[in-house]
This record gives sequence, structure tokens and C-alpha cells, in this order.
Amino acid sequence: MSTQRYTWTGPREALEGLDVLLSEALDPPADATSLLKNDPVEEDQDTGWTLHVYFADAPDFDTLGRMAGALGAPVAETLEDRDWVAHALEGLGIVRAGAFVLYGRHDADKIAEADGIALRVEANRAFGTGHHPTTAGCLEALTGLRALAPSKVLDLGTGSGVLAMAARRLFPQADIVGTDIDADSIAHARENAATNGIDDITFAVADGVMDELRSAGPFAIVLANILAEPLMTLAPAISAVTTQNGRIVLAGLLDRQKAEVISAYTNEGLSLIGTMGSDIWPVLLFRR
Ligand code: SAH
Repeated sequence: MSTQRYTWTGPREALEGLDVLLSEALDPPADATSLLKNDPVEEDQDTGWTLHVYFADAPDFDTLGRMAGALGAPVAETLEDRDWVAHALEGLGIVRAGAFVLYGRHDADKIAEADGIALRVEANRAFGTGHHPTTAGCLEALTGLRALAPSKVLDLGTGSGVLAMAARRLFPQADIVGTDIDADSIAHARENAATNGIDDITFAVADGVMDELRSAGPFAIVLANILAEPLMTLAPAISAVTTQNGRIVLAGLLDRQKAEVISAYTNEGLSLIGTMGSDIWPVLLFRR
């Protein structure tokens, strides 16, 4: 048996729309899709993405071309390996980071308790399946803080909810708050939490640190995996919602932006107490 793979490249938003269409509106839907950024270092989020769509029983090429609209006809390939769909998902598959093992529904049967603290995170429109080095780096940093007993933890820019859920597992006593500027992400985060049997994280739509968030704090651990610019803008506000001696984990900056981001936070009187993460995507750990 063979599998068809169709590939489109283009701006993220158009590909996301097509991804939803082919995974949800098409009957029968695609067996698997993966949406990837071509160059992880390229800062422009809106160009240079690739969507792969896998079908065991492919719809006809014209239908796909029509559904793709302005993205046009895909590049079609026939993959001979009958397990290709499983392989494609496996490639996306299980991620280990710090104390955690992240998996999607296709790998649910492959996870053993000994693997680590398991979190199921579906690869959907919300960022944060663990495949990005910033997510993995934050999970490692968070694991390093497991000896603390924070009473409140904030995950600012929660995306899929992954870091908030990880904090829930490490700190069963803590109040956990996850916020995102994007309402869809918050919906996905709630779904992911429910899938993991977690019903006690407060998820809310919020841009940066708004008044409600300020009054929910202060937080003994603040995680923020956003981008360098918003991290710098938010330095005073993030610092202000962190407890004395609290920890702040920052990611989403590129290595060449590190110095700027560090000084934005040291200017607030915070001390840099660790750097981790990948060479391209560092993760910074501060203490207030
Ligand atoms: N925490 C997840 C997701 C990181 S992606 C992880 O570590 O994998 C960054 C998220 O931050 C996105 O979901 C984006 O919508 C959100 N974001 C960007 N700017 C923001 C802001 N000013 N306030 C709140 N959330 C923001």
C-alpha cells in the first residue's frame, strides 16, 4: 500500500487555514498533517512555511487544488512505505525534555510510566508540542526548579498550555495561571489540560500583564516563551508580578538577542542565574 503526500509552501496563515480544511472539513479527512517553519531562525513568522498532508486514500488532485485556493496545486509524491503516516507522526512524535515526556495521540500506546512525567499535547494550531527547542528548554529549566515549592506559577504565552501543565505536575499545591493573547490558543490549552485530566489551571486570554493578572499574583515562578521584543517590553511588568526571590524563565529570543534581553531584566534589578536551551534559542533563568 502506498501513501500520498501533498506539499504546499507559503505564508503560515494560509497554510493553517488549509490544514484545518483538510483535517476537518474534508471527508474523509487527511490521515496526518504537519506544518513546519522552513527556517527556524527566520524571524518573519508569516512567510516560508511548509504544509505536508498525508493520505492513505488520496482525494483527487483537482479537489485539493481547488481547496487550496491561492496556494495552488500541491507537489504530489507517492510514498511506498505503508507505515509512512505512522513514521511521519513518529518523526513529530515523542519528545523528552527535563523530567517530561510529551506525546500525541498516535503515540499514546508507546508511553510507559518509567519514561517520565507524561503529557499528551496534540499537534494543533496552538504552539507548544515540545518539538520546538524553546519549549524543550523551558521544560528543562522548570525541571531544575522542582525543589522549590511555589505557591503561584504564571505561564505567560501558554500556547498549547504545555508549560502550565508541566508546572501543574511538578507543583501539585500551586495555583497555576496560563495566559495567551490568542483566544484559540487558550481554547486548545483548555482541551489539552482536559485530555490530561487537569482541571485546576486558570487559563485566560490576556495581552501581557494586565490588571487582573497583577492582582492574581505575585508569582514565585514566571515562565514566558514569547519573542525577544515582547519579552523586553514586558520586563518591568513581569518583574513586578514576580515574588521577591522568585524565578523567571524566558525563551523565544535568539542567541544574538540575548545581551539585549538580559539587560532589560538586569535593569529591573534581577540576577541572571542560568542559561540553557539550544545554541540558537537560549533559555534564560533569572532570580528576583
Ligand atoms: N508556552 C508555549 C507556547 C509558546 S508560543 C511553549 O513554551 O511552547 C508563544 C505564545 O505566546 C503564543 O501562543 C502567542 O500567542 C503568545 N503571545 C505572544 N505575545 C503575547 C503577549 N503579549 N501576551 C500574551 N501572550 C502572548
